[in-house]
Amino acid sequence: MSTEKKKLDSAPTPAPPSLPAPLTDLKIKYTKIFINNEWHDSVSGKKFPVFNPATGEKICEVEEGDKEDVDKAVKAARKAFELGSPWRTMDASERGRLLNKLADLIERDRLLLATMESIDGGKLFANSYIMDLGGCLNSLRYCAGWADKIQGRTIPMDGNYFTFTRREPIGVCGQIIPWNFPLVMFIWKIAPALSCGNTVVIKPAEQTPLTALHMGSLIKEAGFPPGVVNIVPGYGPTAGAAIANHMDIDKVAFTGSTEVGKKIKEAAGKSNLKRVTLELGGKSPNIIFADADLDSAVEFAHIGLFYHQGQCCVAGSRIFVEEPIYEEFVRRSVARAKKNILGNPLTPGVQQGPQIDKEQYDRILSLIESGKKEGAKLECGGGPWGDKGFYIQPTVFSDVSDDMRIAKEEIFGPVQQIMKFKSIDEVIKRANNTQYGLAAAVFTKDLDKALTFAAALQAGMVWVNCYSAMSAQCPFGGFKMSGNGRELGEHGVHEYTEVKTVTIKIPQKNS
Ligand code: ADP
Repeated sequence: MSTEKKKLDSAPTPAPPSLPAPLTDLKIKYTKIFINNEWHDSVSGKKFPVFNPATGEKICEVEEGDKEDVDKAVKAARKAFELGSPWRTMDASERGRLLNKLADLIERDRLLLATMESIDGGKLFANSYIMDLGGCLNSLRYCAGWADKIQGRTIPMDGNYFTFTRREPIGVCGQIIPWNFPLVMFIWKIAPALSCGNTVVIKPAEQTPLTALHMGSLIKEAGFPPGVVNIVPGYGPTAGAAIANHMDIDKVAFTGSTEVGKKIKEAAGKSNLKRVTLELGGKSPNIIFADADLDSAVEFAHIGLFYHQGQCCVAGSRIFVEEPIYEEFVRRSVARAKKNILGNPLTPGVQQGPQIDKEQYDRILSLIESGKKEGAKLECGGGPWGDKGFYIQPTVFSDVSDDMRIAKEEIFGPVQQIMKFKSIDEVIKRANNTQYGLAAAVFTKDLDKALTFAAALQAGMVWVNCYSAMSAQCPFGGFKMSGNGRELGEHGVHEYTEVKTVTIKIPQKNS
């Protein structure tokens, strides 16, 4: 590689922070419901257990929020949103300052949060510390910057009028998040909502409530007024459904499965037609042409699927490889998958941790069995690993056809499907032949081909010669049944505003 190319490759990315060792004496301090900047027991008196998926051991118990607790949280959020409240009368720039303060506190507690996220979510510590916490800080500071730049317009309306628009906060936002990126999802939800001046009731996933609760303490310390952010841990069909059905919540933002996303939208329709944004499942195609840089394509396809044990909504789980390089691509992908080191996510050098829980583990194993039965060729893996925790061997299937379950259903596990294609038209049709439309990628050195695919693929994000390249500035979300609306970027911020047109009668206008 020439020195010039090296410089270009390395120029835009700041050096990652050096990696400390995870904390060995992590104490869980916050296990209650966070309402009005105070810690509450659940109204029902119930608690639920939180487990470490690497060992199956219980970490602690957390207060179990339900409808009554959601009601309390919504009352607090509504009060904080009243006209004349400290939050509503605050300068927009001050909202930005508070969000930046929160980012400073996350930076202070970065090691604690990364350790907690690893233990609670089975996430490799290095990924937690560098990727998740880094992503949180970037998204938070990005949204902080928007706070005093959310503007309306003046409009040259017909007639003798002066007309302008305001972008106002929507009101009380209910937010329901999943377990695969607990802290990142927490920030993706609260940061744009608060930047625009909304108030929030957020429910973390029942598997991973701990970092969200720690965030409650930081939100209070940063100086957000009481009631602006309320955090209700609990289960989906109880606390989650109470948010989706609530008559006094103005918007619900959800990240999770397509199945639950449908229920959220239905509940919004049946209650008060609250605004809905959804970020749901995917079965994203990754198309590799024979002219691609093969080493790079194999590596991106591997990481694009196996990152975080395959538990990513954007996982490239349908890999279409052009016929001339098919055998070689499979051979290299299998060799790459076999190199993965499994173990405890806190141990340095480990590359694959456990799946989140027994339910996901069982579902992944049953999909692997379906692949074997339906005639796909199992190249490696295909079963459980170890004697404790929810580990699955890195698994690669070749000779996969489009009608198999493993080619159609979201697996959310370390299972790679490799298919063969011959022509451009054929692969475009096959890539788009899915209910999902979250992400897609194409690997080729031919710019014309790349641009053809960028236009033809039905997906919210299309990557060319890379995978999972995401950043706070870029909108993220899905076509079709992968979701509604966008997160991040200017589009994501605007999802938390209502547009109001104000028209004033004037005696005579002049252009
Ligand atoms: P996964 O299948 O990956 O666990 P889910 O869509 O079930 O994803 O969960 C994502 C989030 O949705 C979690 O916070 C969960 O508690 C919540 N949830 C699950 N069921 C419902 C429901 N019926 N109504 C509202 N939220 C729900």
